Amino acid sequence: MGRRQCVERSPDAADRRRVTTSRPSVTIPAVTSVVQALLGLAVVGAAGAVLVRVVRYLARADRARHVAQRTEDDRIEQQRERAALPGASPEHPLAVGSAAAVEPRAEALPCPACGEHCHTQAHEVQHHRGRRLRAASMRCTGCGHTHCVYFELPPPPVLN
Ligand SMILES: [Zn+2]
Repeated sequence: MGRRQCVERSPDAADRRRVTTSRPSVTIPAVTSVVQALLGLAVVGAAGAVLVRVVRYLARADRARHVAQRTEDDRIEQQRERAALPGASPEHPLAVGSAAAVEPRAEALPCPACGEHCHTQAHEVQHHRGRRLRAASMRCTGCGHTHCVYFELPPPPVLN
C-alpha cells in the first residue's frame, strides 16, 4: 500500500499537462481583475484630474470676470471723479476773468490720464444751462489723451 501511494504521488505526464494547462486558466482571471482594477483607478484618476482642471478653469474665469468688473468699476469711478474736478465738465467750470486766460489756465492742468503736459488745440464758446462757457479742447503731449476743460467767463459788460 505504501508502495502504491508512492506511485500515485509521482505526477505522470497527464498530471503535468493538466498543471501546465490549468495554470493560465487560474492566473488570467487574477491578472484580468488586477488590470481592470488598475484601469478603473486610471479612469477615476483621469476623471478626477479633469474635474480639478474644470474647477480651476472655472475659478480662474470667475477671478478674471471679477478683475474685469473691478477694472470697469474703477474706470467709471475715475470718470466720475474727473467729471467732478473743476473744469472737467460743463457743470463744474473753472472761473476765469477773460478769454485770454483760458489757454494758459487750461495748459497749466496736467493730463487726467497720465499727468503729462497738455496742449490746447482750440477753444470755443458754449452755452450750458444759461451759462456762457469756454470749452478748451486739450491733447496730452505724453499719451495723446484728448479732453475738454470748461471755463466760465464773467458776463459781458452792459453798455448804456
Ligand atoms: Zn496723458
